[in-house]
Order: sequence, then structure tokens, then C-alpha cells
Amino acid sequence: MNVSKGEVLIEAKDLKKYYRVKKGLGKVVVKAVDGVNLSIYKGEALGLVGESGCGKSTFGRALIRLDDPTDGSILYDGQNLMTLSHKEMKKYRQDLQIIFQDPSASLNPRKTIFDSVRLPLRVHAELSEAEQLKRTAEMLRYVELQEDNWYRYPHELSGGQKQRAVIARALIVHPKFIVGDEPVSALDVSIQSQILNLLKRILRDEQLSLLFISHNLSVVRFLCDRIAVMYLGRILEIGSKEEIFGDPAHPYTRALMSAIPIPDVHARKKRVVLSGDVPSPSAPPSGCPFHTRCPYAVEQCSVKEPELHCIGETHFAACDRLTSIREENHG
Ligand code: ADP
Ligand code: MG
Repeated sequence: MNVSKGEVLIEAKDLKKYYRVKKGLGKVVVKAVDGVNLSIYKGEALGLVGESGCGKSTFGRALIRLDDPTDGSILYDGQNLMTLSHKEMKKYRQDLQIIFQDPSASLNPRKTIFDSVRLPLRVHAELSEAEQLKRTAEMLRYVELQEDNWYRYPHELSGGQKQRAVIARALIVHPKFIVGDEPVSALDVSIQSQILNLLKRILRDEQLSLLFISHNLSVVRFLCDRIAVMYLGRILEIGSKEEIFGDPAHPYTRALMSAIPIPDVHARKKRVVLSGDVPSPSAPPSGCPFHTRCPYAVEQCSVKEPELHCIGETHFAACDRLTSIREENHG
């Protein structure tokens, strides 16, 4: 798919989400998302990767205004969602869905699977009862949940079966955009691939876009068209799957890549091993957020925050030293 010339579905502009948290006697500000610019195109699956705590979940929730961002704007369907009241947001709720990691926490333990999946139709009540029942059954069949499970309670189902139900419930209102926040991470590996195949089928069949959050690069590689790499609340690199896997540019992306055992015939690149811990998002480094762990950092990197430089058709990286790093590695 050519995502570079597609139509934008939803766009974050300088999106920020800060949390004020208690620390000792005082308070600190955690800059969980700190100025993200990102467009998601119609019909694409965009993978968002990065180490735990880098702000992926916070970004996913802020983007659909499940949590209110601190600053910035969100453009959706010609509308800046940030200017809407909570009441006005309601009409966009069906369009913008989210699927979480733990399906048990997403389902009401006292409702049958069928009732949980049907619930969004009852709330939005445009369909007659008969139509609601028909559509619910269709969705449950579509996600391949066996009929003998439909009238059971969540605790009677496996994790994979529950996640199928959660996916059916998200799809039942014909959303335009789904955030999947590590939706397969809590499942057994054998079940993960089944759910990933289901998501792939949904992307093929439905007119929707997916922001797929994961710390697992292999999973993202299977499912996504484009990949964005996040670090300390910022996007450090973004590009098509081929660009990111074939030619990772940012030292941080290269480090993430060299940590996964993917057989890569082009793997002539030097291994990048990271030293040190991720700095705290309540006291992020000056300049480039990655400079404290970057093997290529020079003095300038601690002073100036790099912008995203265009390095390929759909490929951008936030590093001012890209040229010299490339020369070092290929020259
Ligand atoms: P990820 O999903 O990439 O693991 P998160 O978005 O969950 O990262 O967290 C980003 C940062 O924001 C972390 O430092 C985390 O501790 C902090 N954080 C997340 N949610 C909250 C919250 N509700 N209150 C305070 N801090 C939070
Ligand atoms: Mg998370």
C-alpha cells in the first residue's frame, strides 16, 4: 500500500500530556508525551514502538481524548477535537475506539459475552432490537468466536476468546480509527498470532485505520505499514516498515533493532548497544532526549533538540548527526 500519498484520517499536532505527580513533599511534572506530531492515514496500520514508559499508552489515550491532552491539537474529520466539550466529543466516540492489553479488565464480569458485544448498539440505539441481535451475531461470527461461547461469562473464556469479544465490541459501531494498546501482549504466543491474523483481516475488510502500540518489533513488522519510534515522549524516527527495518537511521532505532534476533541479510550494520537507563520523563535531558545514551553524541547534541529530518520518501529521523553516523557505518 502506498501510504505516502494517502488521505490523513487523524493528526496530532505538537501534542503534549503532562502528569503532575507527588514526589516526596513536593510535586513533579512527568512529561509523558512531549510535543508529538503525527499523521495517520486512512486505511493504514501505524505501529508505535519504544521501551516501556516512553509514553506510548499516554499518546494513544490522548489522541482519542480518552484522557485530555495538556496542549496541542488533534485534527479529525476537519475538526480540532481539543476544542470540543466532553459532551460534543460523544459524537466521535463511536469513530474512535481503543483495545487494551487485558481483555478481562475490558469486559463486564456480570454480563454475557453476547450482551457486552451488543452494548454499544443499545447505547447508540439506532437499530431495532432484532437488527441489534443480528448484527451482534454477525460480529461474533466475524471474529470467529464459537457460538457455544456467546452466552457465557468472561471468566469462562480464554484470554484469546475474550480479546476476540473485545475486538467485536469495538468493531460493532463501524469505527474509523482503532488504537490497539498492546492488544496481544498478555496472550500466549500461539494465541497472539491468531489475534494478529484477525487484526490483519479486519484491516483488509474494513475501512479503518489502526494505531498499533507495541514493544515487540516483530509483531509490528507483521501487522503495520508504517512504524514510529518513540523515546521519552517524542517521536525519534518514522517511516514505512521497509524503511525502518531495511535502513534504520536513528541511533536509538538501530539499538532497538539490534536487540531483536531477526535474520537480516543486510545486517552489515554495526550493533548498537545502549548504556545506561532511560532518563526520567520528569527530568528529561536538554537537547536531544537520547543524547545521554547515544554512542554517537557530540557536545552539540546536549544543546539543540533535533527536528525530524526527511531522509527518504516517507522516512524521517530526529538526529542532527545522521550523515556522519552513516559514513561511519557504511564508509
Ligand atoms: P508506555 O505505554 O510507553 O509504557 P506510558 O504512557 O504508560 O508509557 O507512561 C509514560 C510515562 O508517564 C511514564 O513515566 C509513566 O510512569 C507516566 N504515567 C503514565 N500514566 C500516568 C498517570 N496516570 N499518572 C502519572 N504518571 C503517569
Ligand atoms: Mg503502555
